[in-house]
Amino acid sequence: MIDLRSDTVTRPGPGMRAAMAAAEVGDDVYGDDTSVNVLQEYGAGLFGKEAGLFSPSGTQTNLIALLTHCQRGDEYIVGQEAHTYRYEGGGAAVLGSIQPQPLSNQADGSLAISDIEAAIKPDDVHFARTRLLALENTIGGKVLPSGYVKAATMLARQRHLATHLDGARICNAAIKQGMTLADAVEGFDSVSVCLSKGLGAPVGSLLLGSRAFIKEATRWRKMLGGGMRQAGIIAAGGLYALQNNIARLAQDHEHAQLMADGLAEIEELSITPPQTNILYVDVPPRRAQALGEYLRAHGILASVGPRTRLVTHLDVSRSDVLRVVDCCKQFFALR
Ligand SMILES: *Cc1c(COP(=O)(O)O)cnc(C)c1O
Repeated sequence: MIDLRSDTVTRPGPGMRAAMAAAEVGDDVYGDDTSVNVLQEYGAGLFGKEAGLFSPSGTQTNLIALLTHCQRGDEYIVGQEAHTYRYEGGGAAVLGSIQPQPLSNQADGSLAISDIEAAIKPDDVHFARTRLLALENTIGGKVLPSGYVKAATMLARQRHLATHLDGARICNAAIKQGMTLADAVEGFDSVSVCLSKGLGAPVGSLLLGSRAFIKEATRWRKMLGGGMRQAGIIAAGGLYALQNNIARLAQDHEHAQLMADGLAEIEELSITPPQTNILYVDVPPRRAQALGEYLRAHGILASVGPRTRLVTHLDVSRSDVLRVVDCCKQFFALR
């Protein structure tokens, strides 16, 4: 099957599996797991932060970050479309008594600087304390402009807000912009990075920040049930991903563009030009279900709807992309 539902569907290849099988392990709750320690240090160095914390999922690293930055009754500024706000079960509110202050995302994925400024509450008993600005990059496959990131994090600093980046796909953003990972996350106090999306590891996310921040975050991870024991087995997959699978993300971006160019030849479809590995295609609503079934019958898995999201990743080759385009052309030629 060609699976375009998400970049989370990748399977570890022989090199990654060999690294996992050979991993040195220990009890990570005691800090004894060499492979986890190496991953955390390597990740921190790569992103220019002091320390790292390995956790089972991006949902958990984001939640840990919010719990570490904010106290009960604090507020964080976040996008309406942000994963942290919209797709994580309201964890910050449910488990942290942290109030979200959602703002509309602009067309480019950013939060308008003036909206952020207007949402910062004065020191007044009527208001929750505005404590944190949380951004996401990439967001819906879109790369936040680097000048914007600088301006937003500077504003936060001036107004004494902490900053968190949901960088589940920050490596896609950095590769797209030709930036180092450290430059791409500069200005953020904390960053979460998914190892199990385009980077291809089976499990895990890294939270990065200052040594003091990570020390506090480690307590929250334990409280959330994220303390793992011989986690080096999976950490080794994450380390392999960071060492081998970042530069190749450029191929996923090329493949998304190739798919966009091919599908653009189909009159019935409307394409949003992809910036990274996520392609949005508008499908005539009355044909969406049949298209999804047709693709599936031809070995292609995709979440087809009126607004279809197609995601390229390391298990999707150039010839797979061409097959997807051909298959869509056949479907619309049938009528
Ligand atoms: C996938 C994702 C997460 C959460 O990661 P999980 O490992 O699935 O919990 C967080 N933020 C963004 C932007 C994501 O795409």
